[in-house]
Amino acid sequence: MQFHLNGFEPGDPEIADPVARVLPSGMPGPVPQEVDVLIVGCGPAGLTLAAQLSAFADIRTCIVEQKPSRLLRGQADGVACRTMEMFEAFGFAERVLKESCWITETMFWKPDENKPDNIVRSGRVQDVEDGLSEMPHVILNQARVHDGYLDVMRKSSAKLEPYYSRRLLDLEIAPAARFEDHAVTVRLERLDAGHEGEIETIKARYVVGCDGARSTVRKSIGRELRGDSANHAWGVMDVLAVTDFPDIRYKVLIQSARDGSIIVIPREGGYLVRLYVELANLDAGERIASRNITPDDLIAKARRILNPHTLDVKEIAWWSVYEIGQRLTDKFDDVPAEEVETRLPRVFIAGDACHTHSPKAGQGMNVSMQDAFNLGWKLASVLRGRSAPHLLHSYSAERQAVAKELIDFDREWAELLASAKGDNKGADAAQTQDYFVRHGRYTAGTATHYRPSLLTAKGDHQHLAKGFAIGTRFHSAPVVRLSDAKPVHLGHVAKADGRFRLYLFAGAGDPADGSPLRTLCDFLSESPKSPIKRHTQASADIDSVIDVRAVFQQAHTALAIETMPPLLLPRKGRYGLIDYEKMFCPDLRSGHDIFAMRGVDRNKGCMVVVRPDQYVAHVLPLDAHEELAGFFNGFMLRAE
Ligand SMILES: Cc1cc2nc3c(=O)[nH]c(=O)nc-3n(C[C@H](O)[C@H](O)[C@H](O)COP(=O)(O)OP(=O)(O)OC[C@H]3O[C@@H](n4cnc5c(N)ncnc54)[C@H](O)[C@@H]3O)c2cc1C
Repeated sequence: MQFHLNGFEPGDPEIADPVARVLPSGMPGPVPQEVDVLIVGCGPAGLTLAAQLSAFADIRTCIVEQKPSRLLRGQADGVACRTMEMFEAFGFAERVLKESCWITETMFWKPDENKPDNIVRSGRVQDVEDGLSEMPHVILNQARVHDGYLDVMRKSSAKLEPYYSRRLLDLEIAPAARFEDHAVTVRLERLDAGHEGEIETIKARYVVGCDGARSTVRKSIGRELRGDSANHAWGVMDVLAVTDFPDIRYKVLIQSARDGSIIVIPREGGYLVRLYVELANLDAGERIASRNITPDDLIAKARRILNPHTLDVKEIAWWSVYEIGQRLTDKFDDVPAEEVETRLPRVFIAGDACHTHSPKAGQGMNVSMQDAFNLGWKLASVLRGRSAPHLLHSYSAERQAVAKELIDFDREWAELLASAKGDNKGADAAQTQDYFVRHGRYTAGTATHYRPSLLTAKGDHQHLAKGFAIGTRFHSAPVVRLSDAKPVHLGHVAKADGRFRLYLFAGAGDPADGSPLRTLCDFLSESPKSPIKRHTQASADIDSVIDVRAVFQQAHTALAIETMPPLLLPRKGRYGLIDYEKMFCPDLRSGHDIFAMRGVDRNKGCMVVVRPDQYVAHVLPLDAHEELAGFFNGFMLRAE
């Protein structure tokens, strides 16, 4: 898709009328007085959480934002492969794939050894290693990412819309409240015309501060961001420009001899380009605003770095000076570490409120959304009576550890990219390129690995499916649906609907009578010890809590669907219609055998338990019925 040719226009590029491109957003009137979850901030973290919770009409969610309306331009733009996988679960990956700019290769430029004032191309690497994800690394304006979530929220059963022009002032947690009480009282100030200064009060069971790096929610629970005191400052501008720099439609890391670096990010629509221009390091406590940097300063510096190439900027769609250090909060909820055994969390923080990154590795927006995806299903599970509330402790435990790892990576990467220190050489281009390749999994968002816990089993049976590493995200692979021979991606059956997935990979003897997979299906549908029976209400669809899918080794033509266990052809809904989308086979015609691709034991088969946020929780033998039940009993409640 090409757009923005005659100037930057915010909103949906498929709508011809620029006025109609930006759909209205926001709830009129006062905020509700009492809710289950109050989300503060409509950035990527807040909107991911709101979109997740909007899937549940029985949860009362409210999201507030101090800005007067939706974001239209600027801020982050890198969307990692892992984030695209999550967008698929939310249902808007296809639109992003179509509209975004794809990053398939990254270029490296360095000072010319003979003429150090000039830059020359020093390398080219594939951006994402083969087979890492079925999704590409793409670039799209953060505002359009927000639009994707706002659409999901609007179309959901909860019909959620943000309340704009509301600034959180403070919050108070009632100390002696019971679990089911609306124990957090929040004061909001209205900022909209005609209501300025009016104070609204909401009582919530849970409050989630997705309110950015200067989070008021974080301060109100007594936490602070700790880390670098010396900030790095960057100028960033989205421009429509004419240049003879040949790699302008690639992502490029340019290190000059004397003027620092630039990161070129080609943008959606084919014409727009983002330039990150490195500015001087700031002194401790200094703010970049005090240096009065103008867009002309950024353009002048960009021209010096791009020398001998020209840069004629025709329009600046958005620009900012952006100062950021690598900072982290010690815990992402209101419970002090020493009280975890005796107290339940009521207030959480997510995204930039708990960790900030340099823009160089493109982490900020991506990690923030993954925080919220981690928290969303847990809150829903507790509020809907499926899980005990101590599950909520796992949010901070899991995400704080991940953030720490990512910040260490970001710091190393930022230091490596830090340019010439007066020696006219610039950073070592070969070293930079090598680091970039080695750490591709971090930037792709697939390096996250949760440690063993209540939700993440130890790897006792990992050898049965080496490619589905416990604690990492479920790595999708192509399969063919048994009922209609449609080629699909197995991971795409997992929607952001709060359900667990149980993938049954058939062993050599399946699906013969009495085979391990058949016996397991009988256990799951009949036994009182079955986690499905135990955790699903009798009146609900059989797959509404744990969604079972089976993958056989044979080609789809070699299997008789009518002989398959009833659990894999469940009767659902008000008419008891049959769900035909539970069984799959390897996509042998295209040469994709999921068993080989993911190292699944062909002889024994296995079960792979996947959390609602798409992380592998357990790998078990097909006959480990008790162990499977025990795993779910560890954090789920018996259905009433
Ligand atoms: C101006 C700016 C420029 C940026 N530029 C880049 C960039 O070029 N590249 C890059 O990779 N990343 C950039 N980032 C960072 C990136 O946008 C963040 O990492 C990402 O948005 C984090 O998402 P979040 O939801 O945690 O927080 P944010 O996106 O910061 O969202 C927080 C939201 O909370 C709202 N809020 C704050 N306080 C209150 C309150 N008291 N009451 C109600 N609402 C409140 C804010 O208005 C905001 O909408 C930029 C961030 C900012 C703020």
